[in-house]
This record gives sequence, C-alpha cells and structure tokens, in this order.
Amino acid sequence: MQNLSVDEALGLVLEEIKPLPLEEVPLVMALDRIIGEAVCSPVNLPLFSNSAMDGYALKAVDTAAASAIFPAKLAVIGEVAAGEVFSGKLERGQAIRIMTGAALPEGADAVVKFEDTDEAFKPGSRAWNSVEIFTAAQPGQNVRLEGEDFKPGQPVLPTGTVLNPGCLGLVASLGYASVKCVRKPRVAILATGSELLQAGQPPLPGKIYNSNNYILAALVTKYGGEVVRLSTVQDRTELIEQGIAESLAQKPDLLITSGGVSVGDFDLVKQVLGTVGELQMWQVRMRPGKPVAFGEIAGIPLLGLPGNPLAALVSFELFGKAALLKMLQCPPGPELIEAITVEPVRNSSGRRNFLRGKLFQEEGRLYVRPSRYQMPSQLASLVESDCLIVAGEDCSYYLAGDKVAVMPLYRLEKSLSRAIHPVMAGI
Ligand code: AMP
Ligand code: MG
Repeated sequence: MQNLSVDEALGLVLEEIKPLPLEEVPLVMALDRIIGEAVCSPVNLPLFSNSAMDGYALKAVDTAAASAIFPAKLAVIGEVAAGEVFSGKLERGQAIRIMTGAALPEGADAVVKFEDTDEAFKPGSRAWNSVEIFTAAQPGQNVRLEGEDFKPGQPVLPTGTVLNPGCLGLVASLGYASVKCVRKPRVAILATGSELLQAGQPPLPGKIYNSNNYILAALVTKYGGEVVRLSTVQDRTELIEQGIAESLAQKPDLLITSGGVSVGDFDLVKQVLGTVGELQMWQVRMRPGKPVAFGEIAGIPLLGLPGNPLAALVSFELFGKAALLKMLQCPPGPELIEAITVEPVRNSSGRRNFLRGKLFQEEGRLYVRPSRYQMPSQLASLVESDCLIVAGEDCSYYLAGDKVAVMPLYRLEKSLSRAIHPVMAGI
C-alpha cells in the first residue's frame, strides 16, 4: 500500500504487532520496566500501626486538658525503638517513650513529639520516670495506622505502570522481591548506506557518519526495548540480504532498518523486502519521513525508516514507539497536547508535517516556540527541541497565538502512567 495517511499507517503497524509475554523481574533490575500484571497488596500497609515521630505514645484522653501552662503529667513505663515491640499494655495515666517507626504499644492511640513535652527542656530526661505533656493530643495523632495505605488484596500498581524508583520502593514495602513485567522487546537495527562511516573512524571523501544507529538505539532503549544487534551495510543487494539474515538470527521481535526505502537507484531495502519478505506499506503522507516501509520477514515485523536522520527519528517516534508500546502491552495514552505557538507555522507540504519546537510555560499556559531550523537535513533542530508541532495536512498556516497540536518527544512515562490509588498520585 502506498501513500497512506499517518493514521492509516499507524493502524496497519498496530494491527500486525503482537503483545509480548510476561516475565518475573527482580526489583533491582526492574527500573523503568513496565508492569504486565497489576500489583495487589498481599498485606496491610503499613504492616502495623507505628509512630510517625520520636516522642511519647499515650492515650489521647489523658491529655485532653493539657497545655503549656497546665501540662498533663504521665508515668513513663518504658521505651520502644524501631524494630522492637513493647511487651506490656499502656493504661490510663501512662506514657511510653517511642521512636519513629516503632510499633505503637497496645493501649496507646496517639504520639506526642518530644518538642511538646518537658523532655525538650530537660536533656538526659530519658532516665526520668514521668513526663509532662504540653498539648492536647488527638486520637490518631502522629500514628501511621495499620493498613491505612493499602489493605490485603487492594490494587497498588496497574498494568502498564513504568516502574520508577518510588514504585520500586512501594513494591518492596509490600514484601515482594520481584515483579511481573512484560518482556523487553528485542530489536535489531540495521543501517544501510554505502556513504556511512562509523563514528570514530577518520573522515573520507564522500562519506558521512552514521547517525541513525545512535538515534534509533537510543529511542529503542528509551521506550523499553533491548537492542540485540546494531549493524551497518552498504547499498548492495547481497549485503543487505546478509545483514537482514544476521539480524534475524538474533530472533528479534522487531527489525528496524534505516535508508534505502526511497526511490533512488540504490534504495534496495524496499526491493529486498519485497523479495525475501512481505512489504505491506511504504510511503506515508508525512514530513519529514515520507518513505516508511513496514512488512515482515520470516514472521518478524520489519520497520524500514528513511535514511535522513531527522526523518528516521520522527517516523520512529510515530511508528516505532507505537510498535514497542503495543509489544509492551501498553496502549499509548493521549500523546498530543495543545500549545500556543509564539511564531507562525507554515505547512505547504500537503502532508502531515512534524515541525520541531520547544515547549515552555508562562502564567500557567503552555507555549511552543518553533525551532529556527526546520530543514529536514538539519539535525541541529533536535538539539533545542523537545516536541514536534503537528501541522495537519489540510491546514497550511497557523498564526502566532494560534493553538497547535504538539507531540512531546522522548516521553514514555507521561503517556503511560495511570495512577489508581491516591497514594500513587505524587509518585
Ligand atoms: P536514503 O533514505 O538512504 O536515501 O538516505 C537519505 C539521506 O539520509 C541521505 O542523504 C543519506 O546519506 C542519509 N543517511 C542515510 N542513512 C544515514 C545514517 N545512518 N546516518 C546519517 N545519515 C544517513
Ligand atoms: Mg541510502
């Protein structure tokens, strides 16, 4: 199929790509991995009621009339530190010295911090057998109640959560040592082009350095994939075939090529694909990146990106990312946001145009400044850009002050994270 719209092409890619199976991942290896099965709490969290302060555990009722002028005097019957459990029971008129994180003794319902007791003014008072409380405590004050965050069976993290450091800590606090994640997509990357030199080689006449391998490997890694082969071949049919065969030998879930899918004399990837595999589409009505091929070889999906590095990046952001997210069992969230352009945006291409821009906020509003560089050959536009301004094929001109649709670049978490518990809201 030729000349598809971006949406048609995306639909076609998503239809072919299949979700990957789950695997158990130790927590220490699970940063940025994606949860494939909701994590539910096996326990109460907190595991037991405990003190949120260093102070005195007591019965709030004993301090009902307490103030700095008329303190409540309580008998100190013991002490409990984090990791310990006080064996006795607290009765009326009694207090127990308690440290942060220590289990709340039986009979106590509140903790008054040291600063609100006479201990604040009497160093060494730990030897004393009574304490003066300067404030009226409320029941539950400075107490972290057993199960107040999660009860057994309650969902903690939904499928699709990207495990950030906070999530990992939360999962560990439930007692789990590992978590069920979607297996990382294995991706082989093959750059084609007789003009390509590898970074670090001395320059040669007519040759350029291979940028795409670095762009694509970074994007694959960014979006949760694993690069299993990164190679480059010249524009010769047998070498491309060999490069593809060697890539497939790594049993990737996806093969990504760059270059050779246009209409030039040496754009052989498309031809090779057509013979050894099955080519389902090439050419998408977008800019940059019109020549984009998709198909499969030996049952493995292949995404053929244009050679132009900017076009390769933009088309990966559209199709490669979607493919990886589908494999990771994550239907992508709303990817487009609305921003006000501070400069006119022109789209005379008749195709959907992805222009580079930088987002910024002012007085609570989101603005986008189009990059100074918009030529498809100018990789420099990416340095100062953090988004793509999506100019519709039918709209050729946006004025400064107009709202435009914007696709943030390189963002995985924002499009995936769906908190299901208020505790997660800030994580
Ligand atoms: P192609 O799609 O093969 O016709 O390539 C389009 C343009 O991108 C040409 O100017 C190529 O030299 C350039 N190009 C192709 N592959 C790469 C690459 N891996 N790194 C940098 N530039 C490339
Ligand atoms: Mg080429």
